Amino acid sequence: MSTTITTPPPNFIEDIIEEDLKQNKNDGRVHTRFPPEPNGYLHIGHAKSICLNFGLAAKYGGLCNLRFDDTNPTKEDVEYVESIKEDVRWLGFDWDDRLFYASDYFDQLYEYAVQLIKAGKAYVCDLSPEEIKEYRGTLTEPGKDSPYRNRSVEENLDLFERMKAGEFPDGSRVLRAKIDMSSPNLNMRDPVIYRILRATHHRTGDKWCIYPMYDFAHPISDALEGITHSICTLEFEDHRPLYEWFINNLDVPSRPRQIEFARLNLTYTVMSKRKLLELVKRGIVSGWDDPRMPTISGLRRRGYTPEAIRAFCERIGVAKANSMVDIALLEHCIREDLNKRAPRVMAVLRPLRMVIDNYPEGQVEWLDAVNNPEDPSMGTRKVPFSRVLYIEQDDFREDPPPKYYRLAPGREVRLRYAYLVKCTDFVKDEKTGKVMEIHCTYDPDTRGGNTPDGRKVKATLHWVSAPHAHEAEVRLYDRLFTKEDPGAEDDFLACINPNSLEVLKACKIEPSLAGAKPGGRYQFERLGYFCVDPDSSEGRLVFNRTVGLKDEWAKIEKVQGGKGTAK
Ligand code: ATP
Ligand code: MG
Repeated sequence: MSTTITTPPPNFIEDIIEEDLKQNKNDGRVHTRFPPEPNGYLHIGHAKSICLNFGLAAKYGGLCNLRFDDTNPTKEDVEYVESIKEDVRWLGFDWDDRLFYASDYFDQLYEYAVQLIKAGKAYVCDLSPEEIKEYRGTLTEPGKDSPYRNRSVEENLDLFERMKAGEFPDGSRVLRAKIDMSSPNLNMRDPVIYRILRATHHRTGDKWCIYPMYDFAHPISDALEGITHSICTLEFEDHRPLYEWFINNLDVPSRPRQIEFARLNLTYTVMSKRKLLELVKRGIVSGWDDPRMPTISGLRRRGYTPEAIRAFCERIGVAKANSMVDIALLEHCIREDLNKRAPRVMAVLRPLRMVIDNYPEGQVEWLDAVNNPEDPSMGTRKVPFSRVLYIEQDDFREDPPPKYYRLAPGREVRLRYAYLVKCTDFVKDEKTGKVMEIHCTYDPDTRGGNTPDGRKVKATLHWVSAPHAHEAEVRLYDRLFTKEDPGAEDDFLACINPNSLEVLKACKIEPSLAGAKPGGRYQFERLGYFCVDPDSSEGRLVFNRTVGLKDEWAKIEKVQGGKGTAK
């Protein structure tokens, strides 16, 4: 079946932008931003947001900024800043000279807070955090006014100034917007906009002991940068009236508009940075870039390409309702990409020695092998064939079950690019019962796998010539979680898959792979797609399996009759 990806129809955000352009809103400009908080590594959900924001800018001849939303110094770190920049670039996007930090605006944000105080629209509140919560009310009950709500402008200015000067302990006072304690929207019930927090900021050091809240910093940062369309995920929908309140009540240089879309959720995956950090901290994975992580750096190490991730993001589209995307679709996208460009090679993961008794000792034939039948321009290479080979243990059975067509005593199979061989004998370890070696004869008239007499064999096996083989370590991955929606479990750590990593230390690879470099991607015939891990060292290659060859998505699509955007 065809797996071509068609361009999805314009999404609802494009409809909004096109309408704005028609009306010449923002003088016809389109300016978006990707605003990560540097409190963790980026994940595949962020990739969706990156593709969307940078993609819209590109589509409408506009610009997209990279802005770090760094208003929470206790959780943020330069390590995260650096990784985020690397990942956005790797995905194929460029912010040119438009790299910003909310912390660059701390002075301006302070001035905007003063502006609100002067307009009688913000006040210093001395309630404790618990009291503020208590006074806020609930979804069904209105809130109560803080006893400090009617402080004079002068007193508020004085107290806010002294908050900044460090006169008060952490948490003792906050600055709140004066909006409406009986609003049905809890976000509008006099939200906190500044808090006292003695924490060293990764960029501003100890200059500040008060920090703005995200809901205050974000719309102002957008307005200062001339953002036209401020795209965020659905959980901010209820914050939109507050966003607009700040834009409407402050003398800001532009009027950005907030638009929400559904965040990406993937089956068998957690996507919250807090949970990902826990996996790292507890050592359940080897780090943020562990190939089982849904992080961009994990996917990169796993062998994913930026092209495949972008195709995936395009394909899932942009919707207004939250949903769960099947991880098989992501795997489908990387297979589709690698199928076209990864060279095919032969490697044996669990080696079993095969001796071809009638093949002359010491003889070597260099046989032609096709690098990628999908792309003839990738050419051919020579693979050595000799009397002793390795095949997969799994490709031989002493007692073959029904429908097992591979090698068994007396049975003939084809060796890829080489000859037909027939199994004549095998050697077993008497103690363990393990098959140690098999013996075959080959038919010299079948070079290249051809059968001049037209006889049929049902299986073609991959193999590696023993004297020419290089050894490699291969890491096989399975899903990190056993439940489809681990985030919905009471304890997501309780459904960790104990078998998500299998390490095979003595794999055999064909000699053409000897010079493979970290990041190199290959198809190991019949086994899947693999890439060279950075743990590789001189003379010892380590491979990660990116994905197997079986495409579950193709099956799902067939059942659904090719629903969605695929043909
Ligand atoms: P997390 O919940 O993992 O901590 P976050 O939303 O707090 O994520 P940010 O660094 O604030 O992380 O996210 C930066 C941008 O990426 C935001 O605009 C956010 O809406 C978007 N984003 C985050 N997660 C997803 C997701 N799963 N799907 C789509 N966009 C996302
Ligand atoms: Mg966030």
